[in-house]
Amino acid sequence: MQNKGAEGKLEKVVMPMVALRGLVIFPYMVLHFDVGREASVAAVEECVVQGRDIFLVTQKDMKIESPEITDVHEIGTIAKVKQVLKLPGDTLRVLVEGERRARILSYAEREPYIQAEVEPIPDEVTTDKAQEVLKEAYMRRITDLFERFASLGARVPGETLFTISEIEEPGKFADMIASNVAIKLDDKQRVLDCIDELDRLQLVVNILKKEIDILEIDKEIASSVKQQIDKSQREYFLREQMKVIQKELGETENDEDEVEELRKKIQELPLSDEARAKAEKELARMVKMAPGSPEISVLRSYIDWIVSLPWGKYTVDNLDLQNARKILDEDHYGLDKVKDRIIEFLAVRKLKNDMRGPILCLAGPPGVGKTSIAHSIARALDKKFVRMSLGGVRDEAEIRGHRRTYIGAIPGRIISSIKQADSMNPLFLLDEIDKMSSDFRGDPASAMLEVLDPEINNTFRDHYLDIDFDLSKVMFITTANDISTIPRPLYDRMEIIQIDSYTDVEKLNIAKRHLMPKQAKAHGLKPSAIKVSDAAIMDIIHLYTAESGVRSLERELAAIMRKAAVKTVETGAAKISVSQKNLKEFLGHPKRSENDMIKQDTVGVVTGLAWTAVGGQTMPVEASVIPGTGKVELTGQLGDVMKESAKTGISVVRAMMKKLKLPLDINEKTDLHIHVPEGAIPKDGPSAGVTMVTALVSALTKRPVRHDIAMTGEITLTGRVLKIGGIKEKALAALRAGIHTIILPKDNQGDLEELPQSVRDQLSFVFATKIDDVLKHAIVAEKK
Ligand code: ADP
Repeated sequence: MQNKGAEGKLEKVVMPMVALRGLVIFPYMVLHFDVGREASVAAVEECVVQGRDIFLVTQKDMKIESPEITDVHEIGTIAKVKQVLKLPGDTLRVLVEGERRARILSYAEREPYIQAEVEPIPDEVTTDKAQEVLKEAYMRRITDLFERFASLGARVPGETLFTISEIEEPGKFADMIASNVAIKLDDKQRVLDCIDELDRLQLVVNILKKEIDILEIDKEIASSVKQQIDKSQREYFLREQMKVIQKELGETENDEDEVEELRKKIQELPLSDEARAKAEKELARMVKMAPGSPEISVLRSYIDWIVSLPWGKYTVDNLDLQNARKILDEDHYGLDKVKDRIIEFLAVRKLKNDMRGPILCLAGPPGVGKTSIAHSIARALDKKFVRMSLGGVRDEAEIRGHRRTYIGAIPGRIISSIKQADSMNPLFLLDEIDKMSSDFRGDPASAMLEVLDPEINNTFRDHYLDIDFDLSKVMFITTANDISTIPRPLYDRMEIIQIDSYTDVEKLNIAKRHLMPKQAKAHGLKPSAIKVSDAAIMDIIHLYTAESGVRSLERELAAIMRKAAVKTVETGAAKISVSQKNLKEFLGHPKRSENDMIKQDTVGVVTGLAWTAVGGQTMPVEASVIPGTGKVELTGQLGDVMKESAKTGISVVRAMMKKLKLPLDINEKTDLHIHVPEGAIPKDGPSAGVTMVTALVSALTKRPVRHDIAMTGEITLTGRVLKIGGIKEKALAALRAGIHTIILPKDNQGDLEELPQSVRDQLSFVFATKIDDVLKHAIVAEKK
């Protein structure tokens, strides 16, 4: 249809024209569009009927109905009409395929449709190698950009990427890209206008770059908008969920009511000025917060803590000495030292209205009633009682709380306990003050010091509350098992009241007067409905328990009560009697038997006596001698002091070879071995000196040691026996182990006065000044 001129230039042709609105058709592009204007419909019909090509050119302004030649772009596309579909309302849907660019020259005819005179534009034929390479480079660049463009979510049909990669002609390539990307109409027309292939490629690169930039910014905006929406939606959902949960739990309150209530409390309670200012400030912050903000609950719980402390609540102390004495005696047997001290305290308090004074520390083995006497002191004084155990506390924050900046912070246990006591002047029991330890998280002992020091505890500051709180009216009592491990500065502020282990007779009395009635009541039995004979109780003490206090004893009695309750219900018996004979029915087989004690005189085995945190204990020490080269071995549980004393003991023994009538070269030819069996409670101290020497001498001479003797005493290099401590505890431990003879340093003779008569009556003592005195009594004499 086009005629080639002599120089290969295409000749002008006249053909039907359709002016396009909002659309640019490129060569090689297959596309359908709808035509509705009369002239356009006529032009299309003419082409179909005559099999002619059509000239498609884009209108500059879409609004113009009948465009003049100046109203259309100069460059358009000659296309083939491939298919026509009639649509309702005189509209045609035309499928065309672009063929080549053409420039419009003039309108040859206007009626019934425009016939345009156009000059087709020939495809370029490149011969310049350098140009070719440049075009190739541009094409690659465009491919990259196009992929990027597609990956940014631009609407590009899947197969297009593939089709494009197949195209080799640079001009066609640029056209395909321009026709396939959703770019502005003007940009499309600019590409169409571009006749030079290289320029066209360059233009497409620029357009793609611009589009990519736009898409990227678009995406950024979209994602940040999305994030914001996501976040607020999430919070919204969570908040709604929280509301539902709170409603389910019955926790919803009207916020305003709540604020009003807090405000009222802050105004009415006798808060300190500082506390009131802080609470008001935080309440004001809380009111300003957006509803549902998580910060609100943090502020609310802080204000709640402040207003729930017992500001200004003091109980009136009952200072009636007689009444106090009565109550203390009612609850506890013995413990006279403690009771006397409390009465003194009350008397002073009555004369001088001042609580100041050292902090009482009740020290003694477990189960001797330290906690429970503190409880009855509170009862006697009509005070509120709170207890806090310091065992295992290593973190200062446990005592003094975490700062509020810490997520989930709460006040420390001192403030929590005060809240629980609901009184500014309760009796506050600090249990196991010797069991605190310190580590990298701070020193709890120094925090305790601030709690206990009467000079400064009127302004105790919890980290969480961060306001001064007055602890000076609180009556602190502490307990400890082992006073040697109480941090020194705390120890200096305390008055130690030692509570010793109980003797069997004391235990019997405690059981009869206190534990039995208490346990009977706890199990719903009348005290008269159960009788346990004294002998049975003694058996429980000896065969079912081995302790300094009465905890296990109380537990065994509770076991009896349970069985008795079953019997009463089952048989309807009015009274249950427990005797030595039927004890087993209630408690099963004894946990200890006589076998536990060393029953035979044995070579190298000696019963020592140790004093530990849980009271006195018997401590078997074993020694053996084996052929060797003079080495010494110490095994088992020996503390440093005990090791030193073992070495001293060995030197003493080595110096005694002649006296013991042993061969003089025995030192070089034997190894000595001392073993202290491990027990649950660590033991240390010098008081096992004589015990170890005795064991070694027995092992060397092969003469057995008396099993019915226990001993204690420090030894010097010259064999002297030195005074030691803890005589009462050790004596009771020996008795618990069924041993009735004790070898003691002579210098300890005076201490025997501490022993209750009942204990002294059951024991005989041997006093030693030199190791020879010990050996003479402990080692069985050679027979014959
Ligand atoms: P601790 O605090 O010294 O370890 P507890 O106070 O827990 O000992 O005492 C253990 C049990 O023994 C408690 O039930 C207590 O009432 C009872 N108890 C201890 N000593 C006596 C006593 N002298 N009189 C009456 N009951 C006692």
